[in-house]
Amino acid sequence: MKTAAFLGLGAMGVPMAAALARRAAETGGRVLVWNRHADKAQAHAAEYGTQAAALEDVGQAGVIFSCLPTSADVDEVIGQLEGHLNPGTVWVDCTSGHPDAAQSQRARLLTRGVRFLDAPVSGGVSGAVAATLTVMLGGPADEVEAVRGELAFAGKAVHVGDTGAGFAVKAVNNALLAVNLWAAGEGLAALGRGGVDLGAALTVINASSGRSNATENLIPARVLTRDFPPTFGLGLLAKDIAIALDVVGGVRGSAPVLAQVAALTRAAAQMIGPDEDHTALLKLVEQMNAQEIK
Ligand code: NDP
Repeated sequence: MKTAAFLGLGAMGVPMAAALARRAAETGGRVLVWNRHADKAQAHAAEYGTQAAALEDVGQAGVIFSCLPTSADVDEVIGQLEGHLNPGTVWVDCTSGHPDAAQSQRARLLTRGVRFLDAPVSGGVSGAVAATLTVMLGGPADEVEAVRGELAFAGKAVHVGDTGAGFAVKAVNNALLAVNLWAAGEGLAALGRGGVDLGAALTVINASSGRSNATENLIPARVLTRDFPPTFGLGLLAKDIAIALDVVGGVRGSAPVLAQVAALTRAAAQMIGPDEDHTALLKLVEQMNAQEIK
């Protein structure tokens, strides 16, 4: 693709757009970047060789990527850009969005001849920097295949189903992240109250059947150290597990554990703060147990 555009230079967008720029440098393409606060786009252009663009100008790109907090934010940007889009463009939305929004966004953009794919990512900021993200794509198979080669930030790209399926899989994945974090926190808080060394407990758990990414990576690196480095916001995790509950409700499923952890995650985002790292979810477990996990 000669010209790609990236909208939303947040924690994920900055390294994802940088990966596109590295690829473009090899293939002779160019990458336009747009951010609501334009200074971030100027800084990105200076650091990574992208081109800061006005929103009206990103319509000339053959592929438009977006990575914004919510589908409502994407709706807002589509509204601002709609009149400047060209037929034939593909819009690849890497937001962790809502499956219902994917349906309406695709229908809305198709009236302009623009195809929309939901393409959320996992792997975190470190995966974006290393360009090893897992992308889960929802949409027609031929459209997914046509865009696969453009995903320079991906280590793995999986077509998971029709429009909205990518967002649904991402929401369920992050619901599992919240459940694993919360459950590990409860267990460790109890062990800590009983005087067990939590480093030793994690050594055992991580060599045993209770292990998860939470116990192997997140808790040792972010919680035991008391660092909680802000890479993925607690408010975004609460948003994702709420979407997962909508997915469950949409098929009249039953998921009482997800519902409970969704409520706890929402409470934590309100009490601890939405911009705190998602691992600060365990600060609520700590308050409930009067026990630090360290
Ligand atoms: P950030 O909060 O770091 O960045 C958000 C970006 O969206 C900023 O560029 C911000 O612009 C822009 N933005 C917010 N609201 C609007 C709006 N209404 N109109 C236009 N631009 C807007 O978010 P992340 O990069 O962490 O997350 C982005 C998405 O990726 C989320 O859906 C998240 O769930 C998902 N995700 C995040 C991961 C992570 O580790 N952080 C991992 C995997 C997925 P401005 O700079 O002007 O405020």
